[in-house]
Amino acid sequence: MLDISHLSRHYGDSVALDDISLHLDTGRVLAVLGPSGCGKSTLLKLVSGLEDPNSGEIRINGRLIAKPGFSLPPEKRPINMVFQDYALWPHMKVRNIVGYGLTSLSRLERKRRVDELLSLLHLSGYADRLPAELSGGQQQRVAIARALATDPEVLLFDEPLSNLDVQLRMEMRHELADLFERLRKTVLYVTHDPLEACAFADELLVLRQGRLEQAGPVRSLFADPASPWVAGLAGYDSQLSAHLHSAIGNGLWRLMVGNQQLVCRLAEYVQAAPGAPVSLMLHSSSIKLCQENEEKDPNVNYLSGIVRQCIFEGHQWRLRLDLGETLLSLVSKQQHERGSCLSVSFTQHSALAFH
Ligand code: ADP
Ligand code: MG
Repeated sequence: MLDISHLSRHYGDSVALDDISLHLDTGRVLAVLGPSGCGKSTLLKLVSGLEDPNSGEIRINGRLIAKPGFSLPPEKRPINMVFQDYALWPHMKVRNIVGYGLTSLSRLERKRRVDELLSLLHLSGYADRLPAELSGGQQQRVAIARALATDPEVLLFDEPLSNLDVQLRMEMRHELADLFERLRKTVLYVTHDPLEACAFADELLVLRQGRLEQAGPVRSLFADPASPWVAGLAGYDSQLSAHLHSAIGNGLWRLMVGNQQLVCRLAEYVQAAPGAPVSLMLHSSSIKLCQENEEKDPNVNYLSGIVRQCIFEGHQWRLRLDLGETLLSLVSKQQHERGSCLSVSFTQHSALAFH
């Protein structure tokens, strides 16, 4: 297992990582999610030993590997890393790259292990190629095979798919999900893409400017984002200005968006007082277009507005609906005229209000 406690790293006055703690059980996959510059690579560099912490400590299976004044050299740590830019040696053949760390094995054992890894990563038949003779996806699979070769206790991935084009990234997402399930390795996987995190992580840690913003099971990020910022990261694409009206129990509140009344869930930390302004976060996938003459359900929210924009997205249209003081984003299977009036509905629990 991997234990990180109160880990910090700064560069001069700039704080790259600030008081991060986490515990990851053996065989679990943790995704570290956050925008560029939030400290993701710094965390991996500290775990791998490429950088040293200013405070805090890192342990693997209880064994101390880093703290201020003590740092186990990278090659002595039971850890390997896969980088965004693959970092393959250009003049070496695939079989030598993958077998590079296997110096303690005999020639025969080494060949057997390399063949096994190449087969695991669907690379059999490419053993004698140079990196330049491989596609981006194949190069990244070589880097993964190399990282697995010495059977490390913890595997680190630093945005391994972000150099691939969209289609290949989708394919590799499936491939990695399958690989992690078969390997049952302890994995720390850094990404800025929430969908990648969803595809194969058990747990999630969200970083913002070096600080922990939210941690927990992957689903909690989407169902219970801790702040409007995390909600935005999780794809809640409408932020409506609203005012609290009155509490109705079970965490639900009546609130006003302009002169339209709704019932929504209040994020836990909000100190609620009637009249207080709140931001209402909504995900376009939870908003439905109402049919004309549709029977109204008293437990569902309804809003009406004017179509301000209608953008074609290939399989659907994305609309911006003007609600008076605020805009709502939603998707529709049909095109809608600018200026037309539409009604939409969403459940009371799908909308989250934040202070
Ligand atoms: P991420 O991987 O999330 O994009 P990084 O961990 O690379 O972010 O960087 C976090 C912050 O630390 C950034 O503001 C970055 O500029 C800063 N930083 C990282 N490495 C160094 C360094 N060697 N010297 C100075 N600042 C650094
Ligand atoms: Mg990075």
